[in-house]
Amino acid sequence: MHDELNIATPDRIRRAPKVLLHDHLDGGLRPSTVIELAEAHGYRELPSTDSEELGRWFVDSANSGSLERYLETFAHTVGVMQSAEALFRVAAECAEDLADDGVVYAEVRYAPELFQEGGLELAEVVEAVEAGFREGERRTAAAGRRIRVGTLLCAMRQNARAAEIAKLAVDYRDDGVLGFDIAGPEAGFPPTWNRETFEYLRRQNAHFTIHAGEAFGLPSIWEAIQHCGAERLGHGVRIVDDISTTGSGSVRLGRLASYVRDRRIPLEMCPTSNVQTGAAPSIAEHPIGRLRSLYFRVTVNTDNRLMGGTTMSHEFEKLVDTFGYTLDDMQWFTVNAMKSAFLPFDERLALINDVIKPGYAGIRAERLFTQAGGERTAR
Ligand SMILES: [Zn+2]
Repeated sequence: MHDELNIATPDRIRRAPKVLLHDHLDGGLRPSTVIELAEAHGYRELPSTDSEELGRWFVDSANSGSLERYLETFAHTVGVMQSAEALFRVAAECAEDLADDGVVYAEVRYAPELFQEGGLELAEVVEAVEAGFREGERRTAAAGRRIRVGTLLCAMRQNARAAEIAKLAVDYRDDGVLGFDIAGPEAGFPPTWNRETFEYLRRQNAHFTIHAGEAFGLPSIWEAIQHCGAERLGHGVRIVDDISTTGSGSVRLGRLASYVRDRRIPLEMCPTSNVQTGAAPSIAEHPIGRLRSLYFRVTVNTDNRLMGGTTMSHEFEKLVDTFGYTLDDMQWFTVNAMKSAFLPFDERLALINDVIKPGYAGIRAERLFTQAGGERTAR
């Protein structure tokens, strides 16, 4: 195929079907929604009530390198999400925003235990979020687009409620919840702390991913996979520590990196977020370039759209600018993500064959048509 047909322009990136596996519900609110919810619920802690200024504040704080300021951003989003109505609205808008950005399938995660300050039961939190996503899917369909959203329930490492949250994920597995995750500080809270929870999930034939190898190195990744049985890794950036280049320039994978690649363990990488938290020094030095060229099962994700000032399209634009990726690369990342979803196999296959592949083919063909048409008019 001619190279030109394969160029990923910003417009094509936005229109191409995208799949998102790692996105936090409380990290993706619209600034205007944060302000309106704060007003409606009497929340008075916001640093600004101007949506543009507030949006900038979130990104600046996440970029500041200060953990305190970074955590403060979540104090505000979580602070305004303490009612069923707020959770419903945030979830519905999340689905709409992702669909507007060309995302066709998303797994959005959140920690139900963070939304109980207003007196909600865990089940009420889950039901409000699921209802919100169904509403967002309906609005999207009414606008002529299509998105499917599943959820992952997170337990916070520091709160010791993992067993309870895992049971919640299993209880709601037929009502939109597709899996489980643990999030929160990696250092001092190794994945094995929740070993019994992961054993429970495996006995239940339930899916889970683990945030590992972002702030902490290889031991965290190794524990997540070999002791806990994680099917995917949240970030997994530090797996590059197990890859070396010999004097002659040939690449050597250590045992763990080999295992991760051989078993096709998906890496939920979030370039912008990884740079913000210092897990990678820059996009150019982000391991995603190297891991992609070594054919690891790499996926591209947003993590926190509000704090990162990002979208899926924005992540791909950065990667295209930095690594010269084409539409083919973008399709490769997207199919990788769809293959790695916690959705049943037949549904994943249907999205790949009926939505993703035709979507990319359509964009390439469209270009061909324009070019041919251009030539015709030129003559
Ligand atoms: Zn995350």
